[in-house]
Amino acid sequence: MKTPPPFFSLLKLATALLLGSLAMHTTDSDDVTFSLRDSLTFHDLLDAGRDFGHRYRLPPAAVFHPKSPSDVAAAVGHIFRMGRRSELTVAARGRGHSLHGQAQAPGGIVIQMGSLKSTLTRVHAGAGKVPYADVAGGELWINLLRETLKHGLAPRSWTDYLHLTVGGTLSNAGVSGQAFRHGPQISNVRQLEVVTGRGELLNCSEKENPDLFHAALGGLGQFGIITRAQIVLEPAPKMVRWIRVLYEDFAAFTEDQEMLISAEKTFDYVEGFVMVNRTGILNNWRSSFYPQDPLRAAQFDYDGKTLFCLEMAKNFNPTAAQLAHQEVEELLSRLRHVRSTVFQTEVTYVEFLDRVHASAEKLRSKGLWEVPHPWLNLFVPASRIVDFAGEVFGKIWDNRTSAVIPDEEIFYLVGFLHSAPPADGGAGNLRRALAQNERILSFCRSAGIKAKQYLPHYTISSEWMTHFGLRWETVVRRKMAYDPMAILAPGQRIFQKGLSLS
Ligand SMILES: Cc1cc2nc3c(=O)[nH]c(=O)nc-3n(C[C@H](O)[C@H](O)[C@H](O)COP(=O)(O)OP(=O)(O)OC[C@H]3O[C@@H](n4cnc5c(N)ncnc54)[C@H](O)[C@@H]3O)c2cc1C
Repeated sequence: MKTPPPFFSLLKLATALLLGSLAMHTTDSDDVTFSLRDSLTFHDLLDAGRDFGHRYRLPPAAVFHPKSPSDVAAAVGHIFRMGRRSELTVAARGRGHSLHGQAQAPGGIVIQMGSLKSTLTRVHAGAGKVPYADVAGGELWINLLRETLKHGLAPRSWTDYLHLTVGGTLSNAGVSGQAFRHGPQISNVRQLEVVTGRGELLNCSEKENPDLFHAALGGLGQFGIITRAQIVLEPAPKMVRWIRVLYEDFAAFTEDQEMLISAEKTFDYVEGFVMVNRTGILNNWRSSFYPQDPLRAAQFDYDGKTLFCLEMAKNFNPTAAQLAHQEVEELLSRLRHVRSTVFQTEVTYVEFLDRVHASAEKLRSKGLWEVPHPWLNLFVPASRIVDFAGEVFGKIWDNRTSAVIPDEEIFYLVGFLHSAPPADGGAGNLRRALAQNERILSFCRSAGIKAKQYLPHYTISSEWMTHFGLRWETVVRRKMAYDPMAILAPGQRIFQKGLSLS
């Protein structure tokens, strides 16, 4: 028989330590700990040690499937009380859509937050009150949408992809084309229920434990595990007019975006993307869209150009369709895109919000989903600031949360969303994409562009200090207050259990 590699021996040792300690409590007739032991599994370690990025594979010692928020509190509290003699750490895992192992806990415990789904979503809507949904941290945004639509309501702020968890995106920020109107998802939360790194189960909001509330929002899982969240809702529209126009001129493209997000009457969603003329891409972007002027659109010559696509959406109800169409036409008339390239379609609100899912499923069926994703997401400040600034900064991006953004009032989220399928020269593609990411970051540094990474990834603490800038002291203070043993979310590599926090 082959000797198992040392890694597996370590893994077994950690498992034995954990089980030993839980068993000790069981003989003390501790019913809670007994039920916790029943919720541990070991057959799914490899899955829990993987993520969407497909670059880090660090399995835990055990996977925990809590049945209630108290189970989460009991497990974390137990590890907290084990003190420094234990190296166990804990990572809450939503759906593992992280890119660099952020939801992994090497040799520790991964908590599958999806197990908490049995605690149902409740919608609260009373006359004269802002409606909200009370939802489990492990619930998917798509399920929250389906539930709230039964009441004619929906959350206001989204991500492009809805098969992410509430706790996972609230630990980052949750950004999409609605963020200029309502702020990111973390600005649309009424209350959280959080398990701190001390194992306390606490409610927090603007009024109750406000420091914990702001720490957990955008907190990269460092200060607590979000077991429930109250998400602000609004009346849901039925339909969406979805429009794409093309630009050849980058300055016109960005100026139009800034004009649209500053305008009082505007679209409900604005995003842009860059189209590099690689085979197939230029044809795919407009499938299921209809050209406003088919003849001239057919004549537009895409060949060899880098084009910029502005994507906009206007929500409406069929009873007010005419008015919505007029507003769309008026807004389009103010844009400086290539005139022949207006493409539109009408879809239901759910079809629009869930638009990425169909593409994801297509990629999955072709085996192109489970491949390395060397993504880089940057918040880049827009140096041409317009009068919109004061309005947005205070109201939309709450700078008391843990999310880090540039110092300017207007900024872009620029995503380089590469994938490196093995069939397509895998390792080479991955190397090239990583090198390109590094060139972009190093250009930002040398040109003095104060970009901030979104879904940040750093490996050494000095880089984290630079990332947080003046907020670093707050981060350390909050860590000492809420997770002094550095048990939570070790995969972010900000703090290390056993090392001094400061
Ligand atoms: C296809 C795709 C599209 C995306 N589109 C967008 C987008 O449009 N906008 C956007 O903002 N982001 C987007 N993301 C990024 C997404 O927000 C992150 O991947 C995020 O991590 C959510 O994924 P998840 O729910 O699977 O969380 P995970 O990856 O499982 O966890 C993320 C981090 O949060 C921690 N965590 C998870 N659950 C909790 C919890 N309940 N409490 C505390 N900490 C927790 C984990 O420990 C980890 O550190 C996209 C990702 C993918 C793969």
